[in-house]
Amino acid sequence: MIIMKFGGASLQDDFNFANVIQVIQKHKKQNPIVVVSAMKNVTDLLIESIQFAVKRDHSRLAKNLKCLRDKHLFVIESLVKEASLQNEVKADFVKLFTELDNLLNAVSVLKECTKKSWDRIVSFGERLSSRILSDAMISHGLSAVQVFGEEVIVTDSSFNFAYPNLELTKSKSSEKLLPILKLNLIPVIAGFTGSTLNGETTTMGRGGSDLSASILGASLECEEVWFLKEVDGILTHDPKVVTNATLIQDISYSEVAELSYFGAKVLHPIAIHPLKENGIPARIKNVYNSLEPGTRVTSLGDKEINLSKPVKAISTINDICLLTIQGEGMIGIPGVAAKVFNCLADSLVNVLMISQSSSEQNICVVISDADKDRALKELSDKFELEILKGLMGAIKVQECFSIVSLVGKQMAGSCGVSGKVFSILGDCHINVAMIAQGSSELNISFLILSSDVNEAVLNLHQAFLLHE
Ligand code: ASP
Ligand code: MG
Repeated sequence: MIIMKFGGASLQDDFNFANVIQVIQKHKKQNPIVVVSAMKNVTDLLIESIQFAVKRDHSRLAKNLKCLRDKHLFVIESLVKEASLQNEVKADFVKLFTELDNLLNAVSVLKECTKKSWDRIVSFGERLSSRILSDAMISHGLSAVQVFGEEVIVTDSSFNFAYPNLELTKSKSSEKLLPILKLNLIPVIAGFTGSTLNGETTTMGRGGSDLSASILGASLECEEVWFLKEVDGILTHDPKVVTNATLIQDISYSEVAELSYFGAKVLHPIAIHPLKENGIPARIKNVYNSLEPGTRVTSLGDKEINLSKPVKAISTINDICLLTIQGEGMIGIPGVAAKVFNCLADSLVNVLMISQSSSEQNICVVISDADKDRALKELSDKFELEILKGLMGAIKVQECFSIVSLVGKQMAGSCGVSGKVFSILGDCHINVAMIAQGSSELNISFLILSSDVNEAVLNLHQAFLLHE
């Protein structure tokens, strides 16, 4: 038994759906359980529709709903040819869209959308895509059945960012899915969604279908969980930047987690956790080339220990800025760092990297450009008195930075890696604004100007032999 997860980019139009059906057909013998995201852009359209409903912008709301209807109907008409089946799906879609209209009307009457209602509305993307795929599969001779996320995944009640409960999901998903599998039917599960113990719909954060796939893989103790993407697997770097980037065949859970956190967006970062905890291997495969092995993710990660290649991949995050909180008034005073980070947390600013030297004269915080204005305002308000009294300087912002991270579990304990990294950067006359390395030693990250990123990455990729 394997899980096959298809994302929105693989479910963009009728051509993509037909390809997905072919992939499932090819691997039918492996007893697949299919997990899907919404069709491409559908979740964004639904979120935008909620915003239009709140603002009572009826014309734009109607336009969005029409676009959603047309998008889905087009695929049905193209892929579900039998009149009776097509009519049945269309009739069900009328019901689904009526519920969606009613929910959005309620939002527009109230001029607000609670987190609970948001989850219910946004869940329609996966509700619709799973229905289309299961019926299109039937129409192409596969025995499939649609399953809602609510029927198999039990989550806590943190609406919008719900987290699944493995034990409860284990029993609920086996109860629902095992009889289906016994009948040789292929379940097509609406990803991203689950339900609380009270049966209320929850969603698990943007990109959450990856988590649906991995929690189901862990619950049902599947042989493997496949994440089918538009790339061959995990590469040593983005081939648009490094043309000789190579495919990584084996990688460990921890390395993938580092890559996901550090901008490579391989998988939803949290999706690794249930797989790692339960020792379920994952594969990142190309949806257009699913017979190739892709990248395998396990706890071992490396078939042979290759000390000559301590770095496995390089990832980058752009649009980054550096905030410096500084002043002599900070020296030796407990609680300044706590005040900075509490303030950022209260303002929902995500901190990517931090540093404080032992002179305690400054604390540097690296955040995304998108959070800059909010962070600056909140910190300036928080430290207004200290700044007025001259104990601290104004908060300094430096923009146009990028984070570069080198990831590899064999960096742990091997000497000379960071020496080599920084002498390469020195040789290229690239100035490093900040450095971070956690004690896990899986990751060396540094901050440089965005204009230097390509040169840095090309040189590091070459020097650490990632092209070989
Ligand atoms: N459809 C949801 C999103 O776009 C979940 C997913 O794609 O995994 O965020
Ligand atoms: Mg998605």
